[in-house]
Amino acid sequence: MASLSLKAITKQFGDIMALSGVDLDVKDGEFCVLLGPSGCGKSTLLNIIAGLISQDEGSVLLDSQPVDRLSPRERDVAMVFQSYALYPHMTVSQNLSFGLRMRGVPKPEIHNRVLETARLLRIEDLMDRKPRELSGGQRQRVAMGRALVRQAKLFLLDEPLSNLDARLRSSVRLELKRLHRQFKGTILYVTHDQVEAMTLGDKVVVMRDGRVRQIDRPETIYARPADTFVATFIGSPEMNLYKGRLVSKDGRSHFQGASFSLDLGNVQLNIEEGEVELGVRPEDIEIGQGRGGTMVVQETKVEMLSNVGSVKYIHARLGQEGLAVCVPKDTNLQPGQVISLYIDPQRVHIFHEGLRL
Ligand code: ATP
Repeated sequence: MASLSLKAITKQFGDIMALSGVDLDVKDGEFCVLLGPSGCGKSTLLNIIAGLISQDEGSVLLDSQPVDRLSPRERDVAMVFQSYALYPHMTVSQNLSFGLRMRGVPKPEIHNRVLETARLLRIEDLMDRKPRELSGGQRQRVAMGRALVRQAKLFLLDEPLSNLDARLRSSVRLELKRLHRQFKGTILYVTHDQVEAMTLGDKVVVMRDGRVRQIDRPETIYARPADTFVATFIGSPEMNLYKGRLVSKDGRSHFQGASFSLDLGNVQLNIEEGEVELGVRPEDIEIGQGRGGTMVVQETKVEMLSNVGSVKYIHARLGQEGLAVCVPKDTNLQPGQVISLYIDPQRVHIFHEGLRL
């Protein structure tokens, strides 16, 4: 296995700046997830690392050695594409073992590795079938198996679970995490699914418009998003954001928004006054007095409830602005009911010019 470093990678397609100055370090054995909306440059970055396309500027290093002049094969990187291609005339078993046979791996070892990988991906029963006899999801698992069966320096996985149904997706996700614990491979995994990123990654890289917005552990990305894009991209329903001003009164910071004010108490901020946005996650708002929050709104009406099973979400309005609040599943609130809202100033996020203060 190898460590991976990217130094100021830039790539332009005509007028489109697909990647701008991307820096990243992935440690040997780390599971790193690239997360971002469609078109943010994730696949382009993976293709550059694999050596399938070349960057305009910057460098790719494996184990601190630049590999920019090496062919994809010389880089010894295993990749699973979004649009996977299997050898149509070979069985699943032959597809899985092909790369190992080409590399002259001894037969008993091939047998064991293929079996282990097939078990992991739950395709043991399909070993004698040809790709045309498989469903899309089954084919995708075989494609992933073909990469995992190798002991490459680096694994690049581009949305490898996108064709699986929700249930299979979450079980393969768990298995993949378990497998990674065992074999300690270095993995760079691309997804636009935040749940996948948060559950799989030791480290998550959030990208937008070809730029890296934040690199952190999943817990930190959620708890301390670096900017308003990351804050609203991660979390569902997304973080509530309110425009307002930060003012200083008697040495304390206060948020003054269009529909509510909040004394921020001893929250440490690096500006005293100015235009800001206050962010608060749905689970950090209380209806009625709870964990020491301050009342911000005395009366607002429940507009709608959405029930996701484990919890419910209340949707309401604060003046012109929307609001989502997470409440326990046994809550008996009904649309039209009047509620008070409490927010703990320790749980809010303050952004100035889009960046976290
Ligand atoms: P998705 O999640 O939809 O796969 P992505 O984050 O992987 O998206 P990329 O495929 O890397 O995004 O594309 C980044 C940008 O570069 C997009 O605007 C895309 O249209 C553009 N792009 C990618 N490949 C090419 C190409 N060969 N020629 C021109 N533009 C391209």
